[in-house]
Amino acid sequence: MRPKDKIAYFYDGDVGSVYFGPNHPMKPHRLCMTHHLVLAYDLHKKMEIYRPHKAYPVELAQFHSADYVEFLHRITPDTQHLFSNELARYNLGEDCPVFENLFEFCQIYAGGTIDAARRLNNQLCDIAINWAGGLHHAKKCEASGFCYINDLVLGILELLKYHARVLYIDIDVHHGDGVEEAFYFTDRVMTVSFHKYGDMFFPGTGDVKDIGEREGKFYAINVPLKDGIDDTSFTRLFKTIISKVVEMYQPGAIVLQCGADSLAGDRLGCFNLSIDGHAECVRIVKKFNLPLLVYFLFDQPFNCCKYVMFKVQRGIFYPTGYWRWRIYKRKCCTLLDCRNRSSFRYRTS
Ligand SMILES: [Zn+2]
Repeated sequence: MRPKDKIAYFYDGDVGSVYFGPNHPMKPHRLCMTHHLVLAYDLHKKMEIYRPHKAYPVELAQFHSADYVEFLHRITPDTQHLFSNELARYNLGEDCPVFENLFEFCQIYAGGTIDAARRLNNQLCDIAINWAGGLHHAKKCEASGFCYINDLVLGILELLKYHARVLYIDIDVHHGDGVEEAFYFTDRVMTVSFHKYGDMFFPGTGDVKDIGEREGKFYAINVPLKDGIDDTSFTRLFKTIISKVVEMYQPGAIVLQCGADSLAGDRLGCFNLSIDGHAECVRIVKKFNLPLLVYFLFDQPFNCCKYVMFKVQRGIFYPTGYWRWRIYKRKCCTLLDCRNRSSFRYRTS
């Protein structure tokens, strides 16, 4: 029997205090709540927990332009009124507001992804999870769709130091435009995005005809979908496409972005997927037994706690093999209970 997968889990409690502003759908305190649930279910005992380093500006500039990184570093809520031209140039404003500790937030979630990729590269784990990461819309020189720094691109660049080819899979309801754009001209990264397309749905890209260019031609795959797709249709498409992609492309590592907004009931999403549907996608990818970097982006008003609980119930975290329905039955936890059970220690290396 294959030995159990070793899982590295990256988390920094400081993200819990990040506040995008009133009425903004992005609420990083959900990350904190999610983490408390992880503790309440004793899942941390099945994983190695690491506090990520805060990515240095020079690390962020491996993908982003140095001037954009520098501006993110410099701008504060108090000074932003002095920089209206720059705010417009870098697309900061309503969707991507300037808030207290914005740059530190970027450093934490990007640092988590970079650390996760390094651990995978050094074969110190089989699967790495970064709750705070997966911000797939950010572009080289501008913010987009609540995303400032594209940590996924930075993670893939790290993986490319050790792997000839990396596969990026995105099942967020929105097109993974930032990652696709970053690797549109190369055959070293294959991007596959399943998303809602049409009706002016954000970000408006991801046509089936967009397949990459130059060296990257045929190395970008878009699966545009309509409202209401259900588990049966989605997982059939997913399995057929991803199995063929892995067979033909032979990636050395996989990055999987499971945006929670593709689940039924999300206020900004429009798909009809259940937790089982999502779980099946993770299960399919996990079966390839390749180094796996995985995200569950809570970028929309979805109730992340419910998400984790359901995921536990349905055993989506097959990596551990422990996260089962019986755990839920045994521990009917509330958030208050979770807070009281927050004893864990970070690993240091
Ligand atoms: Zn999304």
